Amino acid sequence: MIHVHLSIASVEKKRLRISISLPFQTNEFFIPAWRPGRYMAQWFAPLVKNMQGVDRCGGQVKMRLVSDTCWKADQPIDRMTYEFEAKTFDGGGSWLGDDVLYLNPVNAVIYPKDGWQQEVEVTLDVPTDFQRVCGKPFQGDKVSFQDYDELYDHPMVASSDLRKFEYSIEGTRFYSWFYGLKEKTWSAEWLAKNTEVFEKFSLAQFELFGSFPFEEFHFITLVPEYSYYHGVEHLSSTMLVLGPPERVLMDRPKDLWGVASHELFHCWNIKTIRPASLLPYDFSKPQFSSLGYVYEGFTTYYGDEILLRSGVFSMEDWLEEISARLLEHRNKPGRWEVSLADSSMLTWMGGYDAKYKDERQSIYTEGMLNALIIDVLLQKNTDGKIRLDDLMRRMYQDAQEGKGYTRQSILSHLYDLDPSTHWQQHFEKFYYSPIDVTAAVLESLQFLGIGHEWKGEELVLFAH
Ligand SMILES: [Zn+2]
Repeated sequence: MIHVHLSIASVEKKRLRISISLPFQTNEFFIPAWRPGRYMAQWFAPLVKNMQGVDRCGGQVKMRLVSDTCWKADQPIDRMTYEFEAKTFDGGGSWLGDDVLYLNPVNAVIYPKDGWQQEVEVTLDVPTDFQRVCGKPFQGDKVSFQDYDELYDHPMVASSDLRKFEYSIEGTRFYSWFYGLKEKTWSAEWLAKNTEVFEKFSLAQFELFGSFPFEEFHFITLVPEYSYYHGVEHLSSTMLVLGPPERVLMDRPKDLWGVASHELFHCWNIKTIRPASLLPYDFSKPQFSSLGYVYEGFTTYYGDEILLRSGVFSMEDWLEEISARLLEHRNKPGRWEVSLADSSMLTWMGGYDAKYKDERQSIYTEGMLNALIIDVLLQKNTDGKIRLDDLMRRMYQDAQEGKGYTRQSILSHLYDLDPSTHWQQHFEKFYYSPIDVTAAVLESLQFLGIGHEWKGEELVLFAH
C-alpha cells in the first residue's frame, strides 16, 4: 500500500506538505497531464516545489524534472517529500485558506512508476476543528482508495466552516455540503425547498436509468464572496463553486439546481457510460475524443430537461435556457468553420479558454442543441414511443458490461431504435460538418408545441 501524508506547510504561502511512502523502490515519478472533468491537457508540475527523495537511511536524494509530467531520482527510492501550491480556487484546483483545505489529488499527488494499481491511503493532517468530506468515507484522518484512478477522482475538503443537508433516494444517501457561507444562515424555508428540489431531480435521474452506479453521493459546494460558477464531476461526488453567497441563498437558486443536476447526470454519463477512447483514463497524456458532444452535450441537455421533467423548472425556465444557447450558437462565426466533433478534439488543446469561444462549436452548447434535435427526431418517428432516454439506457447497459461507446455503437443503437432515420447521414451533417442548427432546433421545438418569434435578433420562445 502507498501512504500519502498531507499537512499544511504554510497558510500564508498556500503550501501543502506532501510525503509519499512506497512499498517498493523506483526512480521515476509522474504527475497527470490532465484531470477528470476537464478534457484538456494541463500542466501541474509548476505547482510542485522543494521536491526531495529520501533514501533508506533518511539521506536526501536529488530529483530532476525531466519532462512536463516526470521526475527522476538519482537513485531508486521508496519515499519522497515536496510542497504543493494550493492556490487555485475553482472546481478542479486545490486551495488552502485559514479555515479550509481543498484538494484535488489529481493535480497534487504524484504517482510512482509501476504504482498505478497500488492501494493508496491518504492521511489528511488538519486542525482538530476541521471536518473532512470526500466521496469516500474517512476513518479518523485517513481515507483509502483502491488505486490511483480512484484517488484521482476523489476531491476532498476539510474545513471548520462546513454545513450540509441530506436526503435518500431508493436507499442511496445524498449529502449536499457548503463551505463559505460563514455566518450567513439558510432559512428553514430555503432548506425545505432545496432538499425538495434535490430529491426531485435525483429521483427523475434514478427513474431514467433504473439504478445508481455509486453507494452514496456528495455535492460539495464552495461559496466564494465573488461571482463564480463552475462544476466538476467525479466518482460519487461533485465539486461546485458558486458565488456569491446571496446567489446561492437568495437571488438565483436555479443556478445551483442547474449545475447540481448536470453534475449528477455525469454519474452515469462519463463516470459510467464512457467513450472507448477514454476507458480507462490514462493521465499520462491527453486522451483525445471527438465524442464530447455525448459526455458534455447530452449531459447539458439532460441537466435542464430533468429539471423540467421533475417539475423544478417551468416551461418558461427551460425555454430561457434553450433560447440562450441558441443565441450563443448564432453569434459564433466558428459554427460555419469547425464541426462539433472536431471542436471536441480541440477541447484537449486548450479548448476551454474563453478566447476560443466564438472560433468553434462547444461540446456543451451545440452538444445540448443537437441532443434536443435527436430526442425529438426519435419521438417524432416512433409516435413518442422512443426518445433519447432509450439510447442512454442502452449505453448504460453497455457500460455495465464494461464496454465503452464509439460513434459506431451509438449509430447502431439508433438504427435499432428508429430504423426510419438515416442516422449516418444525420451525424455527418450535424456532428461531423460545420453547420448552423437554428432551423433544426426551431423545428424540433415546434414538434414539442413551442412557437417562436423573432424580434430583431431577439428570440422569443413560447408554449402554444
Ligand atoms: Zn459537465
